[in-house]
Amino acid sequence: MRLATFTQEGTTRIGVVEGDRIVDLAAAAPELPREMVAFLEAGEPALKTARAAVGTGPFLALSDVHLEAPIERPPKFLAVGLNYADHVREAGIDTPEHPTIFNKQSTCITGPTDPVHIPRASHVLDYEGELGFVIGKRCRHVKREDAADVIAGYTIVDDVTVRDWQLRIPTWTMGKSFDTHGPIGPWIVTPDEIGDPHSLRLRTWVNDELRQDSNTKELIFDCFTLVEHFSTAFTLEPGDLIATGTPSGVGIAMKPPKLLVEGDVVRIEIEGIGQIENPVIQEPV
Ligand code: MG
Repeated sequence: MRLATFTQEGTTRIGVVEGDRIVDLAAAAPELPREMVAFLEAGEPALKTARAAVGTGPFLALSDVHLEAPIERPPKFLAVGLNYADHVREAGIDTPEHPTIFNKQSTCITGPTDPVHIPRASHVLDYEGELGFVIGKRCRHVKREDAADVIAGYTIVDDVTVRDWQLRIPTWTMGKSFDTHGPIGPWIVTPDEIGDPHSLRLRTWVNDELRQDSNTKELIFDCFTLVEHFSTAFTLEPGDLIATGTPSGVGIAMKPPKLLVEGDVVRIEIEGIGQIENPVIQEPV
């Protein structure tokens, strides 16, 4: 299933995307929660109800709705730096022994087609195309071999970064968390539909220029290893979102660097999921 959050006629709710249509779960199964984190907390019975609704509708045309971030306020928004062999090479550092973990603030999340702001504080703006995964079960101390069971699905994340704010202090949180700097979507694809999450082509374009072209098989710490690692320290909860890191080809590493400018459009596509496409604009006054 492709689980989406959408707005139509002024109300925001969740649905299941099938081709160019979306099942409106608020109409098909009014007993279900209308918000994604609450839906995921309801677990397998809610997923089963949603699956049944795909057979019955009612459907809306995808072109008649506005897709929002599939999860608008995850309980945690975690991210991994330096997690692709090719990106580590372009950054000129050794392969890390432990995952480099940081937080993005959940308020930075925005929708799959919504604008990304060049902030008032800096113009040193960069993209990072990434595979994201979403936790479906409250869990702690999960072994790597059991990790697939706690993942609700996979999505696309642009880990938008203000490079000067990221690098001028030892921790990255500020530079990774400006408002609008977490586009995600266009939906969450459930594991049964994704197959092997560690064999997906990932590409990023800025306008028509292909900047990143890699595959999730290049991940140094894969999704299941990350679940084991995180849950060693803290409880993971339904709706937690983890961005797994970006491959080579970020703008700051180009020679000369190519930062994002007003009018650019960043498009990230991951095989088996779809694409997000966000225009870059100046932060409104
Ligand atoms: Mg990143």
